[in-house]
Amino acid sequence: PLKLVKNAALLQTRALVGGQWVNGASTFAVSDPATGQHLADVANLGADGARHAIQAAQAAQGAWQAKTAKERSQILRRWFDLLMANQDDLARIMTAEQGKPLAEAKGEIAYAASFVEWYAEQAKRVNGETLPQFDNNRRLLVLQQPVGVCAAITPWNFPTAMITRKVAPALAAGCAVVVKPSELTPLSALAAAELALQAGVPAGVLNIVTADADNSIAVGKELCASDIVRHLSFTGSTEVGRILMAQCAPTVKKLALELGGNAPFIVFDDADIASAVDGAVASKYRNAGQTCVCTNRFYVQEGVYDEFVRQFTAKVSALKVGNGFDEGVVQGPLIEEAAVAKVQRHLDDALAKGGQLLTGGKRLQGQFFEPTVVGNATQDMLAAREETFGPFAPVFRFKTELEAIEHANATEFGLAAYFYSRDIGRIYRVGEALDYGMVGVNVGVLATEHVPFGGVKQSGLGREGARQGIEEYLEAKYLCIGDI
Ligand code: ADP
Repeated sequence: PLKLVKNAALLQTRALVGGQWVNGASTFAVSDPATGQHLADVANLGADGARHAIQAAQAAQGAWQAKTAKERSQILRRWFDLLMANQDDLARIMTAEQGKPLAEAKGEIAYAASFVEWYAEQAKRVNGETLPQFDNNRRLLVLQQPVGVCAAITPWNFPTAMITRKVAPALAAGCAVVVKPSELTPLSALAAAELALQAGVPAGVLNIVTADADNSIAVGKELCASDIVRHLSFTGSTEVGRILMAQCAPTVKKLALELGGNAPFIVFDDADIASAVDGAVASKYRNAGQTCVCTNRFYVQEGVYDEFVRQFTAKVSALKVGNGFDEGVVQGPLIEEAAVAKVQRHLDDALAKGGQLLTGGKRLQGQFFEPTVVGNATQDMLAAREETFGPFAPVFRFKTELEAIEHANATEFGLAAYFYSRDIGRIYRVGEALDYGMVGVNVGVLATEHVPFGGVKQSGLGREGARQGIEEYLEAKYLCIGDI
């Protein structure tokens, strides 16, 4: 599939350190999850590679920080333009290594680029403050300064957007960055970095340290232990987030964590059912269920349960599964064998505990799994507690608003939640009562570049996107000037 990529400059397989494409001691293979086909061998860097990248970032930090906001803004704007000009090729690379349908991959490139555009604009709006003095001989200022060298560790489910969502605000704020992309999707990261170089991002300001699964652990340790790295931003599992947080304690690093979710989707009796069904399909089956804001649990009030389940099941059975490059496909393969096994485990467990199979239920060839719906779900099922991260939808029945809120909040996670209602009082009540960082009301998809994306509880720390997203990369410095 990479032969379809027209701009050959995008097909980088070496790591990017200090503006140079470099090899590691070995390479690791990247393959197409739809076919198992080998795509490329990518440079496998270890702790040494990470150290060099940190040093390169440190060397570049001063000059990048010294540029005017407008200069940084212009470079980011050029990067945005190049990402959009290469949207088709970047999407092909993504579908090849990640599996998502090509239309969805194009959508992700636009979404990824939107962060670069937004922070190109925000770069010019980083304002300090002048505070009232407590003594007429003094003046009190607050400067906003870049935090310094930053590190980012990113996942495979949004191979490009999870990088730009961190790198764009960091660069806008005046920080140099070292990125460790997922070992499953490094090609998208390298392609985006090539365009950053073309846009004029100076050598060392953006470094991409590619590594296989084992070396990712070593690279992670190096990034966390480094005194030079002042901020770590991670998107991935809660389990790895905890490890990284602990590893960052000795150097007291600033941390941004976007971790797992267990999103509830509540349909009340007064909902517009057709709209709820559309939202449910979009929220559950996008990216084959592999997003941290994908619905994990559907709670449907008893008065509309049968009707919702009927319409939902009909729509889900019509979803076309296949290779993301094929016309009309809306669900591609799962990323790896372990992901397929987890869906199977949650499904088997649900059926063993009295769940009713409504559609799907079968593993297909390779890493494909039928879009599946199971009714009569109960709170003792694995899927009620664990994030499935796949195309499996358990549907629970509930009676009262309070019961729905209690079930929805009965999790250590708190990223996204959704509910459907047309009662304005209920919309406020439930919207306020859900312990989540993001709540979609009568919508199944809510992310965009200018809203604060992030979770509460064990879903993470900090927000990405929006005005808040750049604040992560800035430190407020209080300047007290006397003898005036
Ligand atoms: P996902 O559920 O997205 O696979 P992971 O948390 O396993 O989530 O992976 C997200 C990113 O974290 C990937 O880039 C992966 O290589 C990296 N990673 C996984 N384990 C570690 C670790 N112990 N230290 C540093 N990075 C890690």
